[in-house]
Amino acid sequence: MPAKPSRKASGRSARSRASKTSARTSAVGRGTDPARVRAILERLEEAYPAATCALKHEDPFQLLIATILSAQCTDERVNMVTPALFRHYPGPKAFAYANPTELQQEIRPTGFFRNKTKSIIGASKKIVEEFHSEVPQTMDQLLTLPGVARKTANVVLGTAFGQAVGVVVDTHVQRLARRLDLTKNTDPKKIEQDLMAAIPRDKWILFAHQLIWHGRRVCQARHPKCIECNLNKICYSKDKTV
Ligand code: SF4
Repeated sequence: MPAKPSRKASGRSARSRASKTSARTSAVGRGTDPARVRAILERLEEAYPAATCALKHEDPFQLLIATILSAQCTDERVNMVTPALFRHYPGPKAFAYANPTELQQEIRPTGFFRNKTKSIIGASKKIVEEFHSEVPQTMDQLLTLPGVARKTANVVLGTAFGQAVGVVVDTHVQRLARRLDLTKNTDPKKIEQDLMAAIPRDKWILFAHQLIWHGRRVCQARHPKCIECNLNKICYSKDKTV
């Protein structure tokens, strides 16, 4: 019968495992250490060089409406609804004076359709009446539109206008920023501040898209596919599956 490993030996092997893990992570530091952030960005760039917004749209206004519809709903479902919707309502004026009951039924598959109808009609009216039917291009102005908070404003500013004013923090970015130890916060506003401090500004727009793509494809909420993840060696999340 093979001899059981002595306590001393198993202690040594545990120490050796711990030191190997620590050597792997210490090569690029921990948390928001700049070398580690660079390594994360390089790996995301490698995996998703062309990550972009998955919501179908042809102009900033359509992107705004699609983003409002995407709250608590998948982009796929929004993309099923919007082509017919944008044909029926070809711009801010058409949405501003839409029949609410009819609009509710048209966007019903995206969920929360009563509130979303109020937001869409309210935002469209304000765009028509106060912004000459053009989507405003500053964070402060966007935040005055009904139904628009920082996430939606950041999507529109980043994707439609190429302006890095903040970082989009949706459910994927929230989860991954914590798993990658780029924040300890749970409040989206604080997470955004942490990411703005850790990530170089010229990467803010692409970085958010890349995290969203990674969250959908690999680092999923329930069963992250760590074995397929190219961030595996520098990730020490307690949610890891390998
Ligand atoms: S190793 Fe796992 S938990 Fe860490 S980022 Fe990759 S998929 Fe997510």
